[in-house]
Amino acid sequence: MATKVEKEKYRKIAELGCSLCRHQGNEGTPAELHHIRRTGKRSNAPVIPLCPYHHRGSNTSIHGMGRKQFEIVYQITEEELFEQTEKLIE
Ligand SMILES: [Zn+2]
Ligand SMILES: [Zn+2]
Repeated sequence: MATKVEKEKYRKIAELGCSLCRHQGNEGTPAELHHIRRTGKRSNAPVIPLCPYHHRGSNTSIHGMGRKQFEIVYQITEEELFEQTEKLIE
């Protein structure tokens, strides 16, 4: 169960729009939250915003292609997208 602080953070993250579209120069694409896998516990909300196309599209998304392929195709890692997202909501 997410805490109030986490919920507020998730809302802000979703409002940023897709982090990959932003990386490609298109800001503000409506996004859904993607939970990333990470080992550290630096953040209590390890999520990034991704549009449906980049989140679950069959050959265009992190779930469709898998994380490794996604990172090769888009030349950015999930972790880098996460770091950029964190900076934007600080
Ligand atoms: Zn996108
Ligand atoms: Zn996801």
